[in-house]
Amino acid sequence: MRILRRTQFGNPILRQPTRELSHEEIVSTKVKDFVVNMRYTLESKGYGVGLAAPQVGKAVAITVIGIKPTPSRPDNPVINLVLINPKIIKKYGSKKTMWEGCISFGDTKNFPYAQVPRYKKIRVQWIDEMAKTHEEDFEGITAHVLQHEIDHLNGVLFVDRVKDTKSYITIAEYKKRFLKS
Ligand SMILES: [Zn+2]
Repeated sequence: MRILRRTQFGNPILRQPTRELSHEEIVSTKVKDFVVNMRYTLESKGYGVGLAAPQVGKAVAITVIGIKPTPSRPDNPVINLVLINPKIIKKYGSKKTMWEGCISFGDTKNFPYAQVPRYKKIRVQWIDEMAKTHEEDFEGITAHVLQHEIDHLNGVLFVDRVKDTKSYITIAEYKKRFLKS
């Protein structure tokens, strides 16, 4: 297992739509190793709740999700997923605004943060690392995170989704002001 190097805002790979993987590729050692390294990188570097392949330099449609309860979000569910070729196949109802940032925007301890509206509930279809197809509805923080990560696979970044541009704040300032820590 090894830490994968981050790409940074401005790198064209973050703006490039990714390529879907074939069944042969998904079951290959190369892709399995890459998925293991993505998970390892997300967990060991404390990169937050999700990581998409372009963020570590590969223009392929893979994202890993790792959500768990935190002091600021104690109600978070525990969600660990590997999504290959994910697609949002249904969006339900209205959007909800949540605070959101991205580790592809500079310092991992002090990146920009902003309020981003996302659909409250979505249905996602994807293939897992064992090449099994899934279809499931997600809501709450999981739906929010999945929309951020699937955007990455289409070359879309959270800054493109910010409506209230005056909500921008650094995460360090956000923590100081809004979290009692
Ligand atoms: Zn991101």
